[in-house]
Amino acid sequence: MKRLAEDVYMLKGWPPNAINVYLVGDVLIDAATRQGEKRIMRQIAGKTVTAHALTHAHPDHQGSSHAICEKLGIPLWCGQADVPAMEIPGSVIARNAPRIVKSFQERFWIGPSHPVARALVEGDEVAGFSVLETPGHTPGHVSLWRESDRALIVGDVLTNMNLMTALPGLHEPPAFATPDPARNRESARRLAELRPALACFGHGAPLRDPDKLARFVAGLPAD
Ligand SMILES: [Zn+2]
Repeated sequence: MKRLAEDVYMLKGWPPNAINVYLVGDVLIDAATRQGEKRIMRQIAGKTVTAHALTHAHPDHQGSSHAICEKLGIPLWCGQADVPAMEIPGSVIARNAPRIVKSFQERFWIGPSHPVARALVEGDEVAGFSVLETPGHTPGHVSLWRESDRALIVGDVLTNMNLMTALPGLHEPPAFATPDPARNRESARRLAELRPALACFGHGAPLRDPDKLARFVAGLPAD
């Protein structure tokens, strides 16, 4: 895994940066798809991991959550409004996703439901970061912010990769997977205003350019 900042590591994956998992202090942030279990377990072997938190309960972030929480005997945390998605079987997938995407995700990505031990809300502390409620992509989407070095775990409020072509670049998350795009845009504006020195995305390489982030967000349509 790669060190990005103090106590912030990005796990390796293939293709690189496509579906990101972070170890922040002793908390595993996101758990990729069901296919990600082995690569995650291999990389965190020997590390102290005491909890697993999700930025949001989507199939490409919660796929290995159940397996990893069971194996390590650690609690699962996620944003309050995403608790039902994580706990009620069959509710993870985006309702308005195209059928082909749904069936692919069901076959290869979605992990089992799992009880949430701690529902995260604005201002909570996770491994030295503060929880920011950043809804829109999911109702309970959260980002993590550490003021001292301006490090930000973005989640999927924005991606730094085109999810169709895998080319680098800032984008809004796909509309079919974002039930409330206007609200997500508000969340994106809030994150850009923080001027993060380091932004870590759910998809795409880390970005150390707050101006680029601000310019991208300023160019988004006003709702
Ligand atoms: Zn995602």
